[in-house]
Amino acid sequence: MKSFELYEPKTVREAVGVLVKFGNKARPLAGGSDLVAGVMKDWVQGKGMPLPDALVDLTTIPQLKGIKADARGATIGANTTLTEIVESKELKDRFPLLTEAAQSVASPLIRNFGTLGGNINQRPRCWFFRGKDFNCYKKGGDFCYSVSGDNRYHAIIGGELCYIVHPSDTATALLALNAQAKIAGPAGERMVPFDNYFVGPRQDILNESVLKPEELLVEVFIPAPAPGTKQAWSKLKNREVYDFAIVSVAAAFAVQNDTWVDGRIVLGGVAPVPYRATAIETQLKGKNIKTSVKQAAAAIRTVARPMSMNAYKVDLAQTLTERTILAALA
Ligand SMILES: Cc1cc2nc3c(=O)[nH]c(=O)nc-3n(C[C@H](O)[C@H](O)[C@H](O)COP(=O)(O)OP(=O)(O)OC[C@H]3O[C@@H](n4cnc5c(N)ncnc54)[C@H](O)[C@@H]3O)c2cc1C
Ligand code: SF4
Repeated sequence: MKSFELYEPKTVREAVGVLVKFGNKARPLAGGSDLVAGVMKDWVQGKGMPLPDALVDLTTIPQLKGIKADARGATIGANTTLTEIVESKELKDRFPLLTEAAQSVASPLIRNFGTLGGNINQRPRCWFFRGKDFNCYKKGGDFCYSVSGDNRYHAIIGGELCYIVHPSDTATALLALNAQAKIAGPAGERMVPFDNYFVGPRQDILNESVLKPEELLVEVFIPAPAPGTKQAWSKLKNREVYDFAIVSVAAAFAVQNDTWVDGRIVLGGVAPVPYRATAIETQLKGKNIKTSVKQAAAAIRTVARPMSMNAYKVDLAQTLTERTILAALA
């Protein structure tokens, strides 16, 4: 692994100062399970993705850790570990969707030191991106190897130039819960709804979010759900532990007498960003969920454009969506 300078700031302002000084040659470091044990160890780099000279350890900043809840909702510091999220009774009672999504990440060991900020901002798992011999678009190269290569786990929706699927389970859940990100940078802090946090390859091929090199995620705010809101999480993977979603579904919606009032259906594992399935939500609006859900879930076919080896994911997305909505209702 390439050597690097390690900075241990005590405040967010200090951390931003180091990021400003190094530009795109510094990276924020949380648990390190992806950045150090993956990207840097495996020399994942390219013209548009240099290996960092400096790492800015965020675990030395007390402000970034902890869970606070009140009538407005819950605030979770970016450095809160996934295990702390899973074990929070407050979150489990009010946002079981997030608890279940966090619990489905990786293994207990990784959840013990992997953080929410790291999970949301982890880099994609495309095997060409992770292979050091493939200088693809996402690293600043001039080719996408998944188009003619093995694309069985790649995107079925929204892939253009690059066909990654966003790897984060918590991001999928947070978008369904209408959460917002607090971002800190040299100009101060700003709130960005998760609706606008993630960006696809057409908008920015080198990055997966709106975060600039000198910015970091400080905390996540989840608004209190409307009374009677139903929530459910499903994740389909090859192995029971240690595996990313082939397809996942996060559902959060308000109902009255089994009729869909308002809500969100978000799919993971299908697109370069956590994918809000508005085509399905529109089909359910004002309708009896039990009698409409099958047809509504089939609306995913109107937006899916599978690649040569992953048409099976369209069937999975449709079935898993239907099951997740019914599970939430039950
Ligand atoms: C074997 C294995 C299996 C896994 N399975 C899953 C899975 O099923 N589902 C899933 O969702 N994930 C999975 N992961 C990914 C894992 O959850 C992440 O590696 C972990 O959550 C990242 O947290 P971290 O704190 O270690 O991040 P780090 O490795 O420290 O950081 C990851 C990235 O986020 C950036 N970053 C970290 N914190 C911030 C911040 N506050 N602001 C801005 N940028 C930040 C870093 O610069 C880096 O680019 C798996 C990982 C492994 C190794
Ligand atoms: S899908 Fe994206 S990350 Fe994977 S090879 Fe193509 S350009 Fe690279």
